[in-house]
Order: sequence, then C-alpha cells, then structure tokens
Amino acid sequence: MDIHEYQAKEILSRFGVPVPRGGLAYSPEQAAYRARELGGSAWVVKAQVHAGGRGAAGGVKLCKSVVEVQAFAASLFGRQLVTKQTDAAGKGVYRLWVEGACDIARELYLGFVLDRKSERIMIVASARGGIEIEDLAEEDPDSLRRMTIDPATGLLEYQARELAFALGLTGGQVAQMVTILKACFAAYQDLDATMVEINPLVITGAGDLVALDAKMSFDTNALYRRPEVAELRDRSQEDPRESTAGDHGLAYVGLTGDIGCIINGAGLAMATMDMIKLAGGEPANFLDIGGGASPERVVRAFRTVLSDPEVQVILVNIFAGINRCDWVAEGVVQAYREVGMTIPVVVRLAGTNVAEGQAILRASGLPLITADTLAEAAERAVAARMKQAA
Ligand code: GDP
Ligand code: MN
Repeated sequence: MDIHEYQAKEILSRFGVPVPRGGLAYSPEQAAYRARELGGSAWVVKAQVHAGGRGAAGGVKLCKSVVEVQAFAASLFGRQLVTKQTDAAGKGVYRLWVEGACDIARELYLGFVLDRKSERIMIVASARGGIEIEDLAEEDPDSLRRMTIDPATGLLEYQARELAFALGLTGGQVAQMVTILKACFAAYQDLDATMVEINPLVITGAGDLVALDAKMSFDTNALYRRPEVAELRDRSQEDPRESTAGDHGLAYVGLTGDIGCIINGAGLAMATMDMIKLAGGEPANFLDIGGGASPERVVRAFRTVLSDPEVQVILVNIFAGINRCDWVAEGVVQAYREVGMTIPVVVRLAGTNVAEGQAILRASGLPLITADTLAEAAERAVAARMKQAA
C-alpha cells in the first residue's frame, strides 16, 4: 500500500528525519491560508498523488506570492495528474501540500528497498538526486551506492558514516546523515514498510540535510497489525476495480487485454495468462478467486471482471483441490443469469467433483463453451474472441 508524500514526511519526521514545515489543503482557499500561516515569501505547492514524477508533470510549483499559491492550487484541484509513473488516465488531485520553499545547494538520492536476492533491506543512495531512480540507474549507474543491512545487527554506525562519506558529505552533515539513515531504517522496520524513498534529500544553502520529498510503501499483509498505517489508505488513488475486488476477498489486477480471467490459485492464473498469450490473445486481468470459493464469490468474480468494458470473452479455469467444481459451476450458472451475459464464456473444470460440476453446466442449457485442458480452454477463448471481432 502506498501513502502520500505528506503522510510519509509526518512518519519520517516522527522517527527523526528533518522535513520542511508545511500544511495540508483541500481547497485553493485553504492552500492560501496555509501559505499565510507558514509565513515567508516563497512556497512550494505540491499535488498529493500516489506517483512520482510530479515535478516534471506540472504538479509541483514554486510560488512567490499567496495569490500565486491560490491560483496554482485552483488549477490543480480535481485534475487528473499524468506523470511518468502513472497510466494514461493519471491520478486525481484532491489534496495539496504547501511548504515553505527551501534554498537548495545540492540534491541527493536516498532509498531503502527490500533486496530479494540477499533477503535484506538495502540502502540505495546517490550524490545525484532529484531525478527518478530509474533514469539515474540508466544515465549514471556508477553514481549509485548500495549497502545491505544485516537483520541481526541492524544498521551499524560505521556503515552509515561510510555511506555519508561516499556521498561527499563533510563535517556536521555526516552526523545528520547518520541520524537520517537510522531513522529511515527504524521507520522501515517498525512499520513493516517495503520502500522508503527520499528524493531529493537536499543540502540547504546553510549546509543542512532536509528531506524535500518522501515516499513510503507498506506490506499489505502486515496492515492488520499496523492500524496507524492502514488508516492512511486513500482509495481515490487506487484502481477502483482492484480495491472493490480486494473488499470481496478476490486478488485482482487489471491488465490491458480483452479476455477476462476467473481462476483459482495464483500460479494457475499466471499459467492461464501465459496460455492465452501463446494462443494469440491478450488477458484483461489477473484474478485469483482463492480456495473454497462459494457460488456467491464466483458471481462477484464475474461482476468484477465484467466491470472492465474492454472484456469481450470470459475464461473460467478451475483446478479444484480445496475448491469444488460443483460450487464453481453453480456460481457460473448463477452469474450468467444474474448479469444477463452477452459475451462468450469458456469454462474448464478439473479436480474435486468435476463430473457433478459438468452436469450442472449441461443441465443449465446455457450456451457455455467447455474445455477439458488448459490449452484447449485458452485456444477456445481466443477463437471465441476472433469470431466476435470478425
Ligand atoms: P516528484 O517530481 O514527484 O518527485 O516531486 P518532488 O517533491 O521531488 O519535487 C520535484 C522537484 O521540485 C524537486 O526535485 C526540487 O528540485 C523541486 N522542489 C521541491 N521543493 C522545493 C523547494 O522548496 N524549493 C525549490 N527551489 N525547489 C523545490
Ligand atoms: Mn521526488
């Protein structure tokens, strides 16, 4: 789960990372009020969306007057901000963060990620900040410093100092960097984060380190024990198809094809998507209905898949171990009638109670296309799609 920049700054600041003073605004008037409240003569107004690259996309602006703050805020609210990290639809802007402008001498990059290879939290840092890490990795990979943290010892002082020196920091900045690194690591561990990124981490004109931007992601499987993190969720930033499916216990990921998939088991879902591609088609989604899916859950799965207007064919592929084919078949028949299906549905059932399941499908009299193997199912789904397009 992602959170907003201002939320990440609030968290990191609690752990000891220095951040600029700022205030949240839900309207242009409130943005102007925040600027007055902060004082000074220059402010940075920042769109709060779950995506980076806002600066380049016009979502961040340095303003020199309260009037300018309010005007820029008015132009941002309600807009869909499209950045390099969003899809073409972008992310809706409903909150702004107004900050006192900062005098920047240098911009650094600092990130904490989970390195699956070493099974450790890894720090990635660069003396060249302000540009996206993906671009940095391409343009100037030699500038990236990487350091893994041993879970038995945590981040050690000497490691933190070594990294500070490697970034060219001197004097008091080294101690500040050590504090920041330890704070980020503590926040990462204590809150079950999967990513902490400060880009840019700046050196101010006065020579101090300040986090000018912040990003955090969290392990959704750990949210049950982090209620203070769970409550930061902002559904306006999520794909509505995915959040609704999640509410119903379905694991759904929207894709760009037109063959809707209803599968049990993540592995089988991946294999089915591969088979569809092999047969010349494009899957519209990943969907795992989970084990022991009741007819009601199958109906919800159909509704979720059909909420995508691109879907032209549905492929149901069930290998029932814990599941029961007769339950799934009942769900398919029920869903077909309830939603008033107008597109072809291909069903492949295998495993527990397969004969009963097939009998239910046959007895329904519905024009379902059945298949015995995964390959057959994928081919028939693609064939049904072609026939429609013709
Ligand atoms: P992102 O593009 O979504 O990563 O948003 P950032 O928060 O990183 O802002 C983009 C850029 O705006 C930064 O890299 C800075 O160069 C600039 N910026 C942000 N805050 C300030 C500020 O207080 N003063 C100045 N001069 N520039 C800022
Ligand atoms: Mn940034």
